Amino acid sequence: MGHRTLKRVPLDFQGPLNKVWEGYINPYPGPLTCNLCDGSGYNTATKQIADDFYSFEDRSRAWHDKITQDEVQALVDKDHLMDFTHTWKQGEGLKRREDGYIPTAEEVNACQHRGGLGGHDTISRFILIEARAKRLGVFGKCPVCNDEGTLPHPNEAIRKLHEEWMEYEPPTGAGYQLWETCTEGSPVSPVFASAEDLAYWCAENATIFADEKTSRENWLKMFVGEEDLDTGSLLAMQPGFIGALANAPK
Ligand SMILES: [Zn+2]
Repeated sequence: MGHRTLKRVPLDFQGPLNKVWEGYINPYPGPLTCNLCDGSGYNTATKQIADDFYSFEDRSRAWHDKITQDEVQALVDKDHLMDFTHTWKQGEGLKRREDGYIPTAEEVNACQHRGGLGGHDTISRFILIEARAKRLGVFGKCPVCNDEGTLPHPNEAIRKLHEEWMEYEPPTGAGYQLWETCTEGSPVSPVFASAEDLAYWCAENATIFADEKTSRENWLKMFVGEEDLDTGSLLAMQPGFIGALANAPK
């Protein structure tokens, strides 16, 4: 079970409801997006090729379903397009076709056009952009950020604060509170003195997933550990846990 977790917090814990706990968000700005390449890390010509791949604004520029044979080869060389080049056999798994088959560009494009490949994934897209930009002799990194897409924050003091900041858990205590973990994590219920009281509240007011509700009994089972409730973040329930208090406000 994901998305909901129990936290043991002080009975007078005041963390604002439905707001990500302050200890989970670095308050100091990190690296800045590079303006020249808009975070892509490419030089201008390569970025244009990347932007054109799907080109939602001007469809006539899109080339995700118009790749060339050398681009197909680039994908095959990096073990993509296995739907075309490999077969699957019980007990043997995926194997390269014995005839060394390489699909034609037409075949791949037709499949992409129909949505049959589920779309070229992000890595395929990188490979294709690089292959096309290299063929056109324009491939290169952004001269400002050198492929990073970001630039270090210009203020050294802020940079240091950002890097040294560490995430910290809310304080622990005798109370019981439901948190959602769809975001970094935020409290969603009032703090109750017992797991039973929280379960009672949850049955009325909380969802276990999306808009699904569950009974008081189920909530309680999860709270007392008979059923799994995102145990990954049930840190506060474990003996000896004091929270990542390294830089918690004193
Ligand atoms: Zn850049």
